[in-house]
Amino acid sequence: MMTDYDPNNIFAKILRGEIPCKKVFENEWVLAFHDIGPKAPVHVLVIPKGAYVSYADFSAKASSDEIVGFTRAVGHVAQMLGLEENGYRLISNVGPHSGQEVPHFHVHLLGGGPLGALIGR
Ligand code: 5GP
Repeated sequence: MMTDYDPNNIFAKILRGEIPCKKVFENEWVLAFHDIGPKAPVHVLVIPKGAYVSYADFSAKASSDEIVGFTRAVGHVAQMLGLEENGYRLISNVGPHSGQEVPHFHVHLLGGGPLGALIGR
């Protein structure tokens, strides 16, 4: 089950510059910005510029160039933020069981200190 992309989701508005964000990095493929409710000392969201609902949607429909551009950008942002030495975690929520709130594909980049267990229930 994959819902259609909603062009009025909050990250689409951020991409269009209708809502501000604390930008960390931008190139032709991605925008990276600080999460508004950080769950770790460093909590950055990396989103593709293309209109994809989730990882499922992105992995199925994005072009090879978009996938490579996105993947390299996530690694670049982690490196830029100085997270490589002590490590970091990537999370992407997909659909209802994950609690995905914003229906524009994004990766959470978490680090800056010990992160604890992978999931809590
Ligand atoms: P999800 O649950 O969809 O994986 O994560 C959505 C994330 O977006 C949450 O961590 C939430 O704090 C963040 N978020 C929601 N609205 C905004 C916003 O307007 N600006 C920013 N920077 N982050 C947001």
